[in-house]
Amino acid sequence: MRRTRSRRTHHRGHPPERERRPARRLRPPAGLHRLPGRPLRSRPALPRAVQPDPRRGDPRRRPARRGRLDRARPRAPARDEGPRRRHAGQLPERRAQAQGPARPVVRRRHRAAGRRRLRGHPKPAQGPCGDVGWEELTDGALVAAQPDGAPTWFPCNDHPSLKATYEIAVTTEAPYTVVANGPLVEVTRKASTRTWRFARTEPMCTYLATVNVGMYDQLELVGGRVRQTAWVASAQHANARHDLSRHVDTLALYERQFGPYPFANYRLVVTEDELEIPLESHGLSIFGRNHLDGEGSWDRLIAHELAHQWFGNSVSVAAWQHIWLNEGFACYAEWLWSEESGGPSADRCAREHHARLAGLEQDFSIADPGPDLMFDDRLYKRGALTLHALRLTVGDDLFFEILRTWTAEHRHGNVVTADFRELVSRACTGGLAGVGAPEGVTAQAADGLLDAWLLDEALPELPAKPSVLRRVLGRG
Ligand SMILES: [Zn+2]
Repeated sequence: MRRTRSRRTHHRGHPPERERRPARRLRPPAGLHRLPGRPLRSRPALPRAVQPDPRRGDPRRRPARRGRLDRARPRAPARDEGPRRRHAGQLPERRAQAQGPARPVVRRRHRAAGRRRLRGHPKPAQGPCGDVGWEELTDGALVAAQPDGAPTWFPCNDHPSLKATYEIAVTTEAPYTVVANGPLVEVTRKASTRTWRFARTEPMCTYLATVNVGMYDQLELVGGRVRQTAWVASAQHANARHDLSRHVDTLALYERQFGPYPFANYRLVVTEDELEIPLESHGLSIFGRNHLDGEGSWDRLIAHELAHQWFGNSVSVAAWQHIWLNEGFACYAEWLWSEESGGPSADRCAREHHARLAGLEQDFSIADPGPDLMFDDRLYKRGALTLHALRLTVGDDLFFEILRTWTAEHRHGNVVTADFRELVSRACTGGLAGVGAPEGVTAQAADGLLDAWLLDEALPELPAKPSVLRRVLGRG
């Protein structure tokens, strides 16, 4: 996900067109239920929610600035009361209650919840990062919960370290399509409704759970090893076909550079509404109609959200403090795709953004940004620059071996910055998969480099560009 300060400013001061026009609306979901049933299959990760994370003890880490997000966790599951009371406040005008054609009924299985029946009318939460969680569209609904919106629609201890598997079943009025996490296993019809059941997911963070309801058509993106499907409102077909015409190439590039795609398939939901930002979820991403404009204007963000499937969704942070491991990596993936697709090279992107950052305030460490700056664009860019500086230092072969080892060793797990530093140190000491560090590059040197980029507030200089950088990365 990509959030910026301007997101909130835009939202409050300059409402997009969709907020001003009359809209057909969904009635609130009729209920939020815990299904009784089969034995629960998620792994019991709960104890880490209530104990200090032992891996936070990175001696290089500065004292954490405890912010609202940190203090807010863990949360006790809501019981028989629907969404948390703090979400029941005044909603933006565009979400004013109105009658509409659909009434989705949401049923979830979640091991942490226990066997309880829950009822409620999900609404977005208005928190420090803007509106998050369950959100109505003009003719449908979506869930975009990063970082703390999951409790708007199901009971959970909402912390990124608490992964569990999920099975999701959603009942809507028959014309509507549902896209949620996990492979779709069946759609059954009863009277005027359809129920969509999705198979068990890989271990998933609470904030990555999603349900999308809308009048969507299926658009297969053919040619890739991994099945990729766009779910698109009919008015967006032409734009989606154009802007996603090279999506399979993006995924293929990332598989070469980052390792195998970590999920069974990938889906893109393109809503009929405009959205302020695209949103990554587990095994899928959500875009507004404005993000697929038929001219490829948002190509880099489409690549960014895809990269989160490796960095953020499979390899997830153990605490939000380490968010650069999501956003810095996804931002660098944008630059890699830019180069592959014939745009500016990753090195040029890096140097342009370095020059821009040099003119901005340098007042926080990206290894511990605090809750107010965790989605600051400077963190995204400096995180990507950190990776580029590392690449320039250890060389392409070892750099991409580090990335592939990272996604393999921590597949479907949780990580902290110290884990990445340990891997880099190991790579520079003994090499990885037979690839060693260049002469003169030691673990101590790499450690010093990461100290400067991750811990210092002042922006370091980028290493000099080697005489030859591969034009096409990860091939051969
Ligand atoms: Zn992102």
